[in-house]
Amino acid sequence: MVDRVIPVLPQRPAPLQPPLSAAAAAPSGVLRDALGRSLHDLRISVTDRCNFRCAYCMPKEIFDKDYQYYLPHASLLSFEEITRLARQFALHGVRKLRLTGGEPLLRKNVEALIAQLAQLRTPDGQPLDLTLTTNGSLLRRKAQALKDAGLHRVTISLDGLDDTVFRRMNDVDFPVADVLDGIAAAREAGLSHIKVNMVVKRGTNEDQILPMARHFRGTGVTLRFIEYMDVGATNGWCMDEVLPSAEVIALLQRELPLVPLSASAPGETAQRWGYAGSDGQHDPALGEVGVISSVTHAFCGDCNRLRLSTEGQLYTCLFANQGWDLRQLLRDGAGDEQLAAAIAAIWQGRSDRYSELRSQLPPSLASATPQRRIEMSYIGG
Ligand code: SAM
Ligand code: SF4
Ligand code: SF4
Repeated sequence: MVDRVIPVLPQRPAPLQPPLSAAAAAPSGVLRDALGRSLHDLRISVTDRCNFRCAYCMPKEIFDKDYQYYLPHASLLSFEEITRLARQFALHGVRKLRLTGGEPLLRKNVEALIAQLAQLRTPDGQPLDLTLTTNGSLLRRKAQALKDAGLHRVTISLDGLDDTVFRRMNDVDFPVADVLDGIAAAREAGLSHIKVNMVVKRGTNEDQILPMARHFRGTGVTLRFIEYMDVGATNGWCMDEVLPSAEVIALLQRELPLVPLSASAPGETAQRWGYAGSDGQHDPALGEVGVISSVTHAFCGDCNRLRLSTEGQLYTCLFANQGWDLRQLLRDGAGDEQLAAAIAAIWQGRSDRYSELRSQLPPSLASATPQRRIEMSYIGG
């Protein structure tokens, strides 16, 4: 039995004012933070709303019809504002943009934003790697438009194949079949490198691990198992509900032999495992799975990500409780040099390593819910 304390909290402390150090101004394409980590990824949240109520992210008890903290439209960054910022990030070395939320496909005409972002180039003239994470509910309707606008890849969240389990987890009675159809639509539209993210909660959907692996093995879709994280302050997280990735791999190995694969990129969050063929070697036709062990195997050491919230606050860590107010800078008429200087100074001052520090705490303290922390649906996963 899990003791659960779910606080009702106003979630957003006042933002920090970005530092404007002239010394940091000129973008060089390579930026190092205070721990020597380079900047590579930017996650952009385009809405704080969602049509699902996954208990680990937007529990219904909090995000109900009386929830008052959704952002009004005027607070959201416009597509032009997002693109202007993204251009400065690219000059500072960002190579990958991921749109997220909330549910990003709920943002009206999000394909127009993708079309703008697809025009951006790195300092050496390359397009940015453009991807999006979605619950898949609107993909059948949107996949082709997203691809046509210039989206390269897509990650779809799906927590099980059993319809009863999945409907309970999304808590809005949404059927598995429609998400699978969304994945099919993404493939038909020509989106490549499709990934499926499954958050594993002990006691909730661990019986879905093998069915999911069997279903996606050999289809070209990469399934990734994500440890249930202590993000936000409303999901009543506790360590007892985390199923360590090592147990996921051990479970899979009993039926589906796996061999470890090396990371495909520095700072990659997933540990990769390839399905082995009859010769015991990785068989590319069978594909691979990944595990994201944010709780049991912290990867702060090469965390190369920034997160831009829906209202233009920049977060240097998923577990930060304050962001830097880039929207104010934009709306005060800052020039590109000032935006670049602010981004540089924020990254150069960054020393976050929350998960590493949490993993050094005794279990009783690691499970204590903080009084204030930004929600995943606001900051973007
Ligand atoms: N709504 C979209 C979706 O679900 O794919 C995008 C936003 S969602 C916040 C991004 C990712 O974060 C999803 O894959 C979701 O499963 C994951 N996520 C949310 N809360 C989480 C938690 N407490 N622990 C681990 N992953 C979580
Ligand atoms: Fe919505 Fe995604 Fe959060 Fe589920 S995980 S509630 S789909 S934002
Ligand atoms: Fe990066 Fe923060 Fe997660 Fe560590 S805890 S990997 S610094 S986002």
